[in-house]
Amino acid sequence: MTPSANMLSVAEARTRLLAVFYPLPAEAIPLAQAVGRVLTQEVIAAHSVPTFANSSMDGYAVRVGEVQGASRTQPIELNVSGDVPAGALAVSPLQPGTAMRIMTGAPLPAGAEAVIPVEDTDDRREHVGQAPPAVIRFFRDTFPGANVRPIGQDIRAGEVILTAGTLLQPAAIGVLAALGQAQVSVYRTPLVALFSTGDELCEVTETPAPGQIRDVNNYTLAAAIEQCGARVLRLGIARDKVEEAQAKLSAAQAAGAQLIVSSAGVSVGAYDVVKAAVESQGALDFWRVRMRPGKPVAFGQARGIPFAGLPGNPVSALVTFEIFLRPAILKMSGWRQWERPAVRATLAEPLSSDGRESYVRVVLHRQGAEYVAHSTGDQGSAVLTSLVKANALLILPEGVTEAKAGEQFEAWVLD
Ligand code: AMP
Ligand code: MG
Repeated sequence: MTPSANMLSVAEARTRLLAVFYPLPAEAIPLAQAVGRVLTQEVIAAHSVPTFANSSMDGYAVRVGEVQGASRTQPIELNVSGDVPAGALAVSPLQPGTAMRIMTGAPLPAGAEAVIPVEDTDDRREHVGQAPPAVIRFFRDTFPGANVRPIGQDIRAGEVILTAGTLLQPAAIGVLAALGQAQVSVYRTPLVALFSTGDELCEVTETPAPGQIRDVNNYTLAAAIEQCGARVLRLGIARDKVEEAQAKLSAAQAAGAQLIVSSAGVSVGAYDVVKAAVESQGALDFWRVRMRPGKPVAFGQARGIPFAGLPGNPVSALVTFEIFLRPAILKMSGWRQWERPAVRATLAEPLSSDGRESYVRVVLHRQGAEYVAHSTGDQGSAVLTSLVKANALLILPEGVTEAKAGEQFEAWVLD
């Protein structure tokens, strides 16, 4: 048996991990707070939008037959019998032989068949805030329905306008606003408890003593969790003592977290105490994955709450978050699809790997129809700056040790 034979592949680990997460229960929230949330129920349009036929232009409402043949050289003249601003109804139906001035969004008066834009009339628009001219001359004719938005052009009453599982982006929120849905039913957002482990860590605000480093993972991982739309319970640093890690697990449970995330202390070092802490309060399902970076990634449950112990190196922590925890958090939040957009990318330079499935920090450029990938530099798992520069992770599959320039691989687009 090779040393890695008892370790899971990325795909196996991801499947096992995702199997324990489900969408959280629904809650009703104000529409104004709904961006980025996911609908739990379909939305059926209670009415059409628009609810009344209205003009799509500033112009004059007419009967088509009364302006037939109008042109620049042979304009047709009609009396102006009314004015319809947006937000009001015409005081009377359109009288035969007349036109009515009408603004964009104003209801089409009864009897009108079309709107001729102001640009095609002799209205020189000197009437801002004033009554329309008494007489208007048309320089072109028109056809029924021209520049009129009919009832239900956008939404028809009774139609399923948004399905369950819809991620609420600005346009979908606008549809709900148009339908008067001031409250929406969405999946709850998960609370994710986060702590770092390590005797070497100090707070970002402190000056590190000799041998110390600042706690980076508490910041990167909290940011990554928040970017998924989840709430973070920041539990700070646990020293490399089993009791300190146990205390963080208890605090996470007390706060009602749906996921506990730690970084570091899950490898095979003499002070790697996180595994022991989790096993004293739950169980680990796996603790190593055949991948690079990020081999020491642990997953299980503590006090009945899913627990993920990410590696300590900052790049490994973020890459394993991306592969395992972003999908888990999005799944809890009701997303039906959590894959990043993937493209085929051509290597601009050779890459090497140790044969583990490798997630290489690259920058993708578009060249004609294809994407070309350049490494962003040192791929060491502590080199965070090469992740800063990357806009994608290129995946060298298991078994690949040398990849030549010009070869194509899948890449996950990060931004
Ligand atoms: P460990 O898994 O505890 O052996 O940690 C692996 C590496 O990650 C070591 O170099 C640690 O110093 C580093 N490391 C652990 N935790 C953090 C952290 N919160 N921020 C930055 N580096 C860390
Ligand atoms: Mg450590």
